Amino acid sequence: MRKIAIVGAGQAGLQLALGLQQKGYAVTVVSSRTPQQIRAGRVSSSQFMFDSSLQIERDLGINFWEKECPTTEGIGFSIPGPDGGRALFWEAKLDHYGQSIDQRVKFAGWLEEFAKRGGQIIYKEASAQDLEEYARSHDLVIVAAGKGEINQLFTRDTARSTFDQPMRALALTYVKKMVPRKAFTAVAFSLIPGLGEYFVFPALTVSGPCEIMVFEGVPGGPMDCWQDVKTPQQHLQRSKEILAKFLPWEAERCQEIELTDDNGILAGRFAPTIRKPVCKLPSGKTILGMGDVVVLNDPITGQGANTACKCAKVYMDCILERGGKPFDAGWMQQTFETFYSYAQWVAKWTNSLLTPPPPQVLQLMGAASQIPKLASLISNGFNNPPAYNPWWFDAAEAEKLIKRLQADN
Ligand SMILES: Cc1cc2nc3c(=O)[nH]c(=O)nc-3n(C[C@H](O)[C@H](O)[C@H](O)COP(=O)(O)OP(=O)(O)OC[C@H]3O[C@@H](n4cnc5c(N)ncnc54)[C@H](O)[C@@H]3O)c2cc1C
Repeated sequence: MRKIAIVGAGQAGLQLALGLQQKGYAVTVVSSRTPQQIRAGRVSSSQFMFDSSLQIERDLGINFWEKECPTTEGIGFSIPGPDGGRALFWEAKLDHYGQSIDQRVKFAGWLEEFAKRGGQIIYKEASAQDLEEYARSHDLVIVAAGKGEINQLFTRDTARSTFDQPMRALALTYVKKMVPRKAFTAVAFSLIPGLGEYFVFPALTVSGPCEIMVFEGVPGGPMDCWQDVKTPQQHLQRSKEILAKFLPWEAERCQEIELTDDNGILAGRFAPTIRKPVCKLPSGKTILGMGDVVVLNDPITGQGANTACKCAKVYMDCILERGGKPFDAGWMQQTFETFYSYAQWVAKWTNSLLTPPPPQVLQLMGAASQIPKLASLISNGFNNPPAYNPWWFDAAEAEKLIKRLQADN
């Protein structure tokens, strides 16, 4: 039986662990937190996942909260105008719904399930020295520690990384009692030119259904405003102030909102980073990075958990295909490249939204308010970002697409 150690019990790590366990591998998961600590801890993400990712979880039979979790049917896009109204608005249905399950619920539940099925769990914050030990005792060591410090063992890929500093000040506010959006449930995305973005959608948290508010502030601007916030109530208040100032129609929905719990808040920032996937330990043994460790995107497009899920799927397929052959550095690099042939488009598209948009993006977003098929195409691209190539990135291709869809309208 092949022995695989996975460091980090998050989206990628636990999904892969549960998948390999089903296939008869002896999997050890190293988790810095117990299920109880995860449930009682702070939120880590807004973790909205689109259908192609949810389907991977369904195929593994680990979609334990799908029936309980609110569904989100579409995407709405707004830009505020000078009069407190919207200068631009469109909305479109997704072909299939998306969902967000609080990672406190999901990771705690998946860890318990993994243990119940006989999986071995080591509860500790793994160190570099621990990795040496796991590499001696296992056929393969995978590091899926997200933004955990241990990811520093993997070298930043300067050629593939676009930014070397945080591009947004991030904040999350999990709330109840928000007025539902009209027409249909959606990720309601608002872009405040030059200042940042806000998006909000239904989710399932530890105490049941909620809405998650996500704030993305351009560093140094008025939405980069969380440093002086000391208490959960101040965080809620600051969230409401931002909406009252910049997005009055969203503020309207929030007159009665309350925090889901005092841990339903987060503020921070990080630089989007691509890392080299293979780390050579001092002993000469190699280990493989997965998920955010290797491809860390800004949350602006809600892709991190989706991409981690797809990474775990690619790695699982490559491990199964490898059979009994050694998991050497060449295989590790090739496995990552298979994943990166997808992930490069997620990163390129996500990064394109972190700097002032090129003319064709403005043109596409504007035209979507007149051309429902274009609004649908842009919305459904979140489910498979390679589909934005080439028209998102190329002015002539954007023009061609707009003309074609206009003619079809
Ligand atoms: C504000 C914000 C909003 C987001 N919104 C979305 C969204 O809407 N949609 C989306 O798809 N993505 C979103 N993401 C990103 C998404 O949550 C992550 O990309 C995803 O969880 C990455 O999965 P992972 O398995 O690589 O890492 P994680 O899910 O972060 O899991 C890593 C785990 O490893 C553990 N760990 C760390 N170090 C060690 C160690 N040394 N030893 C043992 N364990 C360790 C951590 O505690 C953690 O549990 C958001 C992120 C942020 C910050």
